[in-house]
Parts: sequence; C-alpha cells; structure tokens
Amino acid sequence: MSVAGEPSFRQSVDLMFNRAVQVMDLSPGLQEKIRVCNSTYTVRFGVRLRGEIFTFTGYRSVHSEHMEPVKGGIRYALSVNQDEVEALAALMTYKCALVEAPFGGSKGGLCIDPRQWDERELEQITRRFAYELVKRDLISPAQNVPAPDMGTGEREMAWIVDQYRRMNTTDINASACVTGKPLNAGGIHGRVEATGRGIQYALREFFRHPEDVAAARLTGGLEGKRIVVQGLGNVGSHAARFLAQEDGAKIVGVVERDGGLWSDEGLDLEIVLDHLRRTGGVKECPVGTYHADGPTLMEAPCDILIPAAMEGVIHLGNADRIRAPLIVEAANGPVTAGADEVLRNRGCIIIPDMYANAGGVTVSYFEWVKNLSHIRFGRMERRAEEARHRLLVEELERLSADRGLGWTLSPGFKDSYLRGADELELVRSGLDDTMRGAYQSMRQVWRTRPEVTDLRMAAYIVAIERVAASYRSKGL
Ligand code: NAD
Repeated sequence: MSVAGEPSFRQSVDLMFNRAVQVMDLSPGLQEKIRVCNSTYTVRFGVRLRGEIFTFTGYRSVHSEHMEPVKGGIRYALSVNQDEVEALAALMTYKCALVEAPFGGSKGGLCIDPRQWDERELEQITRRFAYELVKRDLISPAQNVPAPDMGTGEREMAWIVDQYRRMNTTDINASACVTGKPLNAGGIHGRVEATGRGIQYALREFFRHPEDVAAARLTGGLEGKRIVVQGLGNVGSHAARFLAQEDGAKIVGVVERDGGLWSDEGLDLEIVLDHLRRTGGVKECPVGTYHADGPTLMEAPCDILIPAAMEGVIHLGNADRIRAPLIVEAANGPVTAGADEVLRNRGCIIIPDMYANAGGVTVSYFEWVKNLSHIRFGRMERRAEEARHRLLVEELERLSADRGLGWTLSPGFKDSYLRGADELELVRSGLDDTMRGAYQSMRQVWRTRPEVTDLRMAAYIVAIERVAASYRSKGL
C-alpha cells in the first residue's frame, strides 16, 4: 500500500518508538532490549486437500516476554509476512502496557486467503497450524494466548481451543489458551464487539476534553459528526454501528475492497452491512453513491476518518490530500511513519492504534481471567446486588406511603435500578474504565510535556516506561 521508498511496517513502528525514546531517560541497552522482537517462529506445513498436498506458511512472533503469557491475534491474509507479524507483535507489547493488561506482546499470521477455502478445509488448515504452535508452547494459557485478527474470528478460535484440548487433555485451564472464543466454548459476552466498542469509548473520552477537541479544530460532541470508515469487518462495522446508533454520528462514507459508498445525509448502515454480507462488497448497494475508486473517499471532507481495514493505507502518496482533522486508527498501523509526520505538521490529530483498538485485547484479558477462574462474571453478586437495591426502593416507597408524601419514582427507574449487572454490562464497564484511564494517562504526558507533540508519542512514552519498569524490577 505504502509508496516506494517508505519504511516497512516494522520500520515504521521502530521509527515511532525511536521518536518517543529520544525524550526518555533510558539507557541505550534497555532501549534496544525493549525495541527488538525476541523471536519469530516460521512454520511450513502441508495439508492434503482436494486430492493434493498444499503447503502453507505461518508465523508466531514473540516481541516481549516482560510479562507472560504473551498475547496477540492470529491473522489470515495472503499478505502476511515476517515483517508485518513482528510489527504487530511489537504493537501488542505497547498496547498491553498502555491499557494495563498483564501480557507481553505476540502476533501470528498465516499466508492464506480464507475466501478460497470452504469451512471444512479451513478447519483442517487451522487445526494443523494450531498443532504446530501448541507443540512449541506458542499456544498455551500460561505462555502464549492468541486471539482473532483480520480474517479470523470465533470459529477459528473454537477450532484452536479444541485442538489444544486434544493435545493437553489434563490441563484444567485449557480454555484460557486462546481468547475470542464463542460463548459455548468458553468465550465472554461482548468480545466480538469489543474492539469497535473500544473505538466508541475512545472517541467519547476524547470528546470529554474540550481542549483536545479544539486541537482537532472541532467543536461540540460526537452528535452529528461526519465520519468515514474504511473496512467494515469486525472492528469497522461495530464501531460505525455504535457511533451512528448510540452517539448520533453520521457515517457519510464507507470504503471496502471493491469501492466505496457516500451519502451526505448518512448511510443506512444496516442496509450496507446486509449487502456486504450477501455480496462480499459494496457495489450495487441500494443506498449511497457508489465510487469504484474507494480509497479516494478517505480524502473527502469529513470530521473523523476511521481506517479499520489494514496497515499502510495512509501513506506519503495520499497523506497531504487527507482532509479529516481527526483520525482514529482502528486498524493496526494504517498511517505510515512518513504520513504521520505530514499529518502532524498539518495539525491533524491522530488517536493512535496502540490506544484506539485496545478494546479487543482488554476484553480478551477479561475472557482469560474468566477462563482461569472458571466462573462467569457477575454470577455470585448479581442477585445480592438486586436484593440490596430492592431494600432501598421498598424503604423509600414505605416512607412515602407512611408519611403521605406522594413520592413516585420516575418511569423505568425502578426496573433499571433494581437490575443487577450481568456479564455484558460488567465487561462494558471494565472496557469503558480501561479506555478512559488509558486516554488520561496518554493525555497527561501529551499536555504536560512540551517536547511531546502528539498522542502517539505520548502513548509510546507511557507504554515504554511501563515495560522498562517491568524489566528494571527483574534486574535488567
Ligand atoms: P476483518 O477481517 O473482520 O475485516 C477487515 C475488513 O476490511 C473486511 O471487511 C475487508 O473486506 C476490509 N478490507 C480489507 N482490505 C481492504 C482494503 N484494501 N480497502 C478497504 N477495505 C478492506 O478484520 P478486523 O478484525 O476487523 O481487523 C481490521 C483491523 O483491525 C486490522 O488492522 C486488525 O489488526 C485490527 N484489529 C482487530 C482487532 C479484533 O479484535 N478483531 C483488534 C485490534 C486490532
């Protein structure tokens, strides 16, 4: 995607890391220790399909083991390569540190176009890949815990956990070997939507700080903001849906592989998503105006641009044409290091990937904890909470009746107050708290240190400082 001569994805991550460490007080040795990727395992395996043997290449990269297990998704795409997997693993280290999820960073990938294989074939391929990784402890509840990423989802995670279980029949914590599983295989409510939900919470937190909103040359709140989203997969579709349905934002443009759609009035997302599900694209969608050259829609005037597809889509070749004053990096690495500089110089505010898309790993953390504790969140306290609330409401009603005060509770209050929090509510609450806290720690650095010019640099500083502290406490 990026133009010739631009650094690779991994080099981009290193350049961004280097900008941050320049203003930090870390020894060169420790800087190097944190920056480099500890190991990358490459596996080539054969699977007999359609009467022939097909050889697949996969990777699992461990960037930092300052905390274990290490964590990071598994991506299925033809473009997967070692450079990309290492860049993504590094981002995972910093992301986990920023949102205080107690993991090191890892990432995996398989060079495959999942759309070329049917479900049964994909299961065979996934199980074989998982077998190779489990054998080397590159999938394990205590050491390395994958999750979904581009091209994978609940279905693949269910195959992986089952494969792990077959190979570790007495591991009582087997279900914690991977996150993003379906509910019936040990998953948690709210994981599928988590990354998109995190984007929504990140934007809500951003708009709680008028100074930051003004820095992006915007005013007011999310209501009515004109948003363009690239990539309507898991992350993009959930983010767009929540922002439109719950915050009153307008999705004026969407960009998919086969083109884009535009509507000044805001697109009806359910129609777009249904069309995408049925046809695999946005062409001939009954709503919006179709543009065959999708990426140019990212250059159209809007308030917020959300790249949610893949890395390197905003590069030196188009950065100076991007007009959105605020970019939220829902994908990992959508803005190259070169484009980042161009956009910064033009005053564009970028909410960086490391923070913006951390909702996924945050809820994965909750799922892992749930699996290790073998009980769903809220199971013990929900009814006790309801009983205590009921006591209070009944006491108020009794007082009102006894003293003839004529108090009446607002409609709906009693029902919503009496209801104890279930797992989904607890997950959302934990995610919201995490996204608020991480933004504030990043913002504190951005706003109080004049040499820190942007949120990305601030995010790296907070994350690297935490990883460094962890290494120091180990005596390094
Ligand atoms: P996905 O496979 O569900 O969706 C990707 C979407 O992008 C698909 O709809 C695809 O058609 C579209 N797309 C692909 N190439 C495109 C292109 N060139 N132009 C326009 N659209 C294109 O993947 P996902 O899980 O939503 O992940 C998207 C991004 O978010 C990735 O960068 C991933 O690393 C990142 N991310 C995902 C999660 C997660 O929980 N799934 C968590 C953190 C970060």
